Amino acid sequence: MLIDNYNAVRARIDAACERVGRDKSEVKLIAVSKTKPAEMIRELYEAGVRDFGENKVQELCEKADLLHEVCPEIRFHQIGTLQRNKVKYLMRPEVTAIHSVDSLKLAQEIEKEAGKKGVETVPVLLEINIGGEESKGGCRPDEAVGLAQAFCELKHLSLIGLMCVAPATDNPETVRPYFRRMRELRAEVQAFQPYCRELSMGMSGDFETAVEEGATLVRVGSSIFGERDYGKI
Ligand SMILES: *Cc1c(COP(=O)(O)O)cnc(C)c1O
Repeated sequence: MLIDNYNAVRARIDAACERVGRDKSEVKLIAVSKTKPAEMIRELYEAGVRDFGENKVQELCEKADLLHEVCPEIRFHQIGTLQRNKVKYLMRPEVTAIHSVDSLKLAQEIEKEAGKKGVETVPVLLEINIGGEESKGGCRPDEAVGLAQAFCELKHLSLIGLMCVAPATDNPETVRPYFRRMRELRAEVQAFQPYCRELSMGMSGDFETAVEEGATLVRVGSSIFGERDYGKI
């Protein structure tokens, strides 16, 4: 059963909290359902899970259309690279936060669409390319504070946190310094934006380390849903 996998991940998060003396209620687990069918989301929803992550706007919207009536309290998190021309599709009540905002242009597009659609505030996280990898989205770490300041000028955006995807590794100890750096950057942003409380970091391969270093939103896919088969979509 999927809920057993979910509960096993949750138990590992709770144990990581305990190791470092954190309150486990500070950490939310987001079930990353990308490439997986709506029925699997519904199965977890019926077992009490509310937060799901998707990385493609079209897929998120298709699933939200299918599920919003049967799963009225569902919350989708947009976690993948976002193109400006797709922003308008995310202005819907099932979308609880956009984690992958990494440029002022994208933030301005969200501001514009929110204004048009009468959405008062859109919770967003600033994505940081913490490992400085060519292939990854996110702003440079040295741009983060300036961008966060600029986001705070936009009245329909609420900067609730920072997000990263750490470099892939077999040994999560190698990415611990990146998670630490994220926490330091959050402290710099909190100096002028106290509501920037979230740290969205940690995936199947590294979430316990992320939690030990302060993650508040953990995005786990394959450890809950099994490996993804990209050949089928
Ligand atoms: C796919 C994805 C995840 C989850 O990855 P797993 O390794 O399957 O847990 C987390 N965050 C982002 C941005 C993703 O695209």
